[in-house]
This record gives sequence, C-alpha cells and structure tokens, in this order.
Amino acid sequence: MKKILDITFPLSANLTVWPNDPPVRMEAIREAGKGARSTISRLEMGSHSGTHLDAPSHFIEGGGTVDALDLDILIGECLAAEVEADAITAEVIDSLNIPDDVQRVIFKTRNSQRFTETGDFFRDYVGVTTSGARRLLEMGIKLVGTDYLSAAAYSDITQVHCALLDGGVVLLEMLNLKDIRPGRYELVCLPLKLAGADGSPCRAVLIEDAKKG
Ligand SMILES: [Zn+2]
Repeated sequence: MKKILDITFPLSANLTVWPNDPPVRMEAIREAGKGARSTISRLEMGSHSGTHLDAPSHFIEGGGTVDALDLDILIGECLAAEVEADAITAEVIDSLNIPDDVQRVIFKTRNSQRFTETGDFFRDYVGVTTSGARRLLEMGIKLVGTDYLSAAAYSDITQVHCALLDGGVVLLEMLNLKDIRPGRYELVCLPLKLAGADGSPCRAVLIEDAKKG
C-alpha cells in the first residue's frame, strides 16, 4: 500500500513571499452564472511563490531554465532528514550520517514548527550555509529541499545558491514538512513548464511505501 503525502503549501493571496517579491493574485475575469458560461481566472505571482523549484538561471547568468530541469532528478528516491541545529552546516550534515546512495535530501528543521504560510517573514530561519553547500556537492547530492522560502541561510544567500545551482543541484523550497517523519520516500516535484523561467511553483509529494515501513 502506498500513501501519498502532500508537502505543498496552497498558493493563495495571503501567502508569505520573500521580501519585495510580488504577492500571489488570483482574480476571476469572468464567472459562470454571472453573465458568463464558464469561470476563468487571471493568475499573477512571482516565479518563486509557495512551494517551488529554483532553476540555475535564478542566480547564474545564462544558466539553465526551469523548463530544462532534468525530470530524472525531480522524481525518485529521497531521504527526509531531521535537523535540530540552527543552520545546515557541513558539520551538521556529517552528523546525519546520510547513506552514500542518497541523491535527493530534504531537511526538516525547526522552521516547520515556526513557519505558517501566511505569517510574517523571518530572517533567522534554518538554511544551508556555505560549508553545508560544499559538503552536499562533495556527496553528489542532486536535489536539496527545505522547509522555508529559501534553502540557503539568509547570511549566505548568494554563495549557497550560486554554489549549488552551478553544481547542478536542484533546489526545492518552501516545503510543508510539519507532518513528515524522517525516512526514505519517493519524491515527485514537477514545476510548470514555463519557457525560459528562473523557477516555478510546483506540486511536491512524498510517496511512502508501507512495506518498507
Ligand atoms: Zn527560489
């Protein structure tokens, strides 16, 4: 028996976004029953709204775009690891004893207890530091997910994004991991195929195989 766990935050007008990013807007431009036969809405949002993926071009000039992300990375075995520290440093990653075969890792941190998708933005969230990024690259990790608006620690935003994105690591941000137990899952996270975009909201799920426990 497989159980599908949704780790996506709903996209809504009240969603917390990165400071100075555009808010999410959804507006019906015609409505069934109100002089129209069908309802159609206009959507407006930043490319990094809600649960989303970063493409290399988010930080790297001329880097790959979200429509070119490798689907083989976006679907597959994943480790959910719990971090109790205030930052995801090389030392913290070493302490997790992540097995060699792991290529996708998502970090559940105290952000999951503190963050609500409509609450205030805070800078002292738990994120990957420069040393953590270096370690993830050395380990051959292909996808990194975290439970805040950015996978990179606030103090190391540019260095961490550049290092990981340049190293071919896909970043999966703003995951809803509150109810997720550490362990192995199958991950599926697919962005919209936005031609030439630097990122895209996605629907992310973890699939738990009951046989494996
Ligand atoms: Zn992003």
